[in-house]
Amino acid sequence: MTVLVQKFGGSSLGSTERIRAVASRVIESKLKHQDIVVVVSAMGDTTDDLIKLAREVSDHPSPREYDALISTGENIAAALVAMAIEAQGVPAVSLTGPQAGIYTENLYSKAKITKVDPSRIMSELDAGKVVVVTGFQGINDLNDVTTIGRGGSDTSAVVLAATLGAPVCEIYTDVDGVYTTDPRIVPEACKLEEISYDEMLELASLGAKVLHPRSVECAKENRVQIHVRSSFKPDTGTIVKEDSQMEVNRPVTGATLNEEEALITIQKLQDRPGVAGQVFTRLAESSINVDMIIQSAEEDQVNDITFTVHQNDLKAATLISQEVARDLGAKAVKFDESIAKVSIVGVGMISKPGIAAKMFRVLAENSINIKLISTSEIKISCAIDQKDARRALRLLHHAFELDKH
Ligand code: ADP
Ligand code: ASP
Ligand code: MG
Repeated sequence: MTVLVQKFGGSSLGSTERIRAVASRVIESKLKHQDIVVVVSAMGDTTDDLIKLAREVSDHPSPREYDALISTGENIAAALVAMAIEAQGVPAVSLTGPQAGIYTENLYSKAKITKVDPSRIMSELDAGKVVVVTGFQGINDLNDVTTIGRGGSDTSAVVLAATLGAPVCEIYTDVDGVYTTDPRIVPEACKLEEISYDEMLELASLGAKVLHPRSVECAKENRVQIHVRSSFKPDTGTIVKEDSQMEVNRPVTGATLNEEEALITIQKLQDRPGVAGQVFTRLAESSINVDMIIQSAEEDQVNDITFTVHQNDLKAATLISQEVARDLGAKAVKFDESIAKVSIVGVGMISKPGIAAKMFRVLAENSINIKLISTSEIKISCAIDQKDARRALRLLHHAFELDKH
């Protein structure tokens, strides 16, 4: 009998009433599948509330204590879900990340899962129990609890599915599938029946928070299908899997917005080999992910380097850039916190010229200025002013006929 992994997000666990409904849904599945592993996020906005508490007591909490705190929301949800399942007459047990054998690297807040020892989960399944595991957390070499990044419970679920040989991982959330764009911003967005791993990975990495990007990566590597579906309705949702014929016919499959970017420019750096390497090595050493990058053309042996980072990293990235600017004799460092990145994604764009031109034209015709551009074979992203972001998303969604899926 194959194992079924079902993950319930915070939005599906917003109240004890919702927890009882989730328990009933799990029990329904248990009647069809012998072995069920449930992965839970923290209830509602619990993680945000815990982060607020941390800020009230410290400007710079130690990463260890920060993770010790923000991982606790999942412990509450897991114990309550297990209790609710037992209250409805089915044996269940909750396990924390460490108890479930989920190991991570020695980094806090964005640790990667390095291995899973499934022996405890297996023995509880053998005893006939529904096993409820906390998402988002694991344990490192020092026996400390770590967290794996905001929205990471999706990844916990897919990693467990891969480890337990489950062919499908069900992700239950507050939308009934993956849409052509965020249906909360563009109500005309259409639900996709299926989407390829590669497109989903781009959409998730570019800001569609319906799935954590690493969950899609892990699903692709291990050939686990992800079924994104509503925790409120019984209907089939969206299947994330290998390429399907469907996408090839459409140049663009989806559009996304990331409103959490910030832009930094180091002005008048010397134009010689190794300079860009030094700038980005220093940022990488501080675990700062850089997203889009442009270097201006050389003029009088100097040029500007402009790049974007997550808004949370802006302070640290600006300090490092100022240090590097001083060391390398650059003129100044400027930053802009109100940047957004709008992107279109589709495997079909490789074979259809003119998609980028059309995107730039649509933005230009609506007086939206493009600050940075980045492309890959299956996506085009533009950094624009945050004030134009939602309007740009709606315009592009319409221009590429995503409302006609
Ligand atoms: P959960 O609490 O279940 O993990 P999330 O809030 O993390 O739920 O993710 C679900 C949300 O993702 C939806 O409510 C929706 O607003 C947002 N979203 C963004 N882009 C998309 C998309 N392309 N398709 C569906 N939902 C999307
Ligand atoms: N509770 C965590 C968060 O809010 C993890 C998750 O929801 O997936 O980021
Ligand atoms: Mg989520």
